[in-house]
Amino acid sequence: MSELRYSSLNKEWVIIATDRAKRPEDFKYGKGVPPADSREKCPFCPGHESKTPPEVFCLREKGTAPNTSGWRVRVIPNQFPALTPEGNHKRHPINDIYMSMDGFGAHEVIVENPDHDQNLTTMDIRQVEEVFSVYRERYIALSADRRYESVILFKNNGPGAGTSLSHPHSQIIAMPVTPLMLRHRLDVAREYFDNYGDCIYCHMLEKERETKDRLVLESDNFVVIELFASFFAFETAVYPKWHASNFGAITPEQCRELAGVMQKLLIKLKRALDNPDYNIMVASAPAHEQDLEYYHWFIKIVPRISKAAGFELGSGVFINTVVPEAAAKYLRDA
Ligand SMILES: [Zn+2]
Ligand SMILES: [Zn+2]
Repeated sequence: MSELRYSSLNKEWVIIATDRAKRPEDFKYGKGVPPADSREKCPFCPGHESKTPPEVFCLREKGTAPNTSGWRVRVIPNQFPALTPEGNHKRHPINDIYMSMDGFGAHEVIVENPDHDQNLTTMDIRQVEEVFSVYRERYIALSADRRYESVILFKNNGPGAGTSLSHPHSQIIAMPVTPLMLRHRLDVAREYFDNYGDCIYCHMLEKERETKDRLVLESDNFVVIELFASFFAFETAVYPKWHASNFGAITPEQCRELAGVMQKLLIKLKRALDNPDYNIMVASAPAHEQDLEYYHWFIKIVPRISKAAGFELGSGVFINTVVPEAAAKYLRDA
């Protein structure tokens, strides 16, 4: 079992997950070695269901049994979880600076497609919609567990983004704590709301849709922009146009629309940046803080074309070598 550690030095939780180090490829990724790509050994390919823990959720063809082939989207516990539902979510102070907790939580893998070679840019739109409907299902299910404070949905695509298997998949981790980054975002948004009585994100989106300088694409209910002060080159964000603090509040129809927007955006990034490795993260309010007036969920997409180096790690200040307005124009035209 892993351990959660907190230090008042930086007010942040860290997962000490020594079990995961069993994966020898963990150390190879850092050197940019692509993951093994053999269908025979792939635990996510149809027919290999017994190589993974039993499924927790599945969209499958009528008449097919659980944990056999015949599925379209399959959700399984991660075989090498960062957090597990063992132990409990109680915090144990070690002294007045350090705290420790069981590595308690959930870590699931969403296998997006039976076909090893399809991805979100090549799948039929119906399949992409099903993937997003499963994001919604699992997000809502894990958020309902009172022991989890935050539910993080993410995708690592390509070795430069930390992929351990090339079969298309996403992941979801439910944690019994709220990470510092999210606490900070909530604090900033709450302060803005206290001062101006408005959601800072709604206000920002209004301005961005006026100037259109950093606008990449828009649908009826979603807007895609490059961030004004983005940390990374081509760091892109997708926002719902209506105010909502939690991803789980999305309706099935809105979720289908989001799938279409995401596929369009990922195709643009693929064309513009020659199929880059990338990460996708859903940034939602804490699981049990629903309908916040001051916070607004969004999805961030970071192509891994630039690397944080000594200066960034030492200062927390990022050097972005691509002007966000130029990135937006480039993606609009892609
Ligand atoms: Zn596979
Ligand atoms: Zn808002």
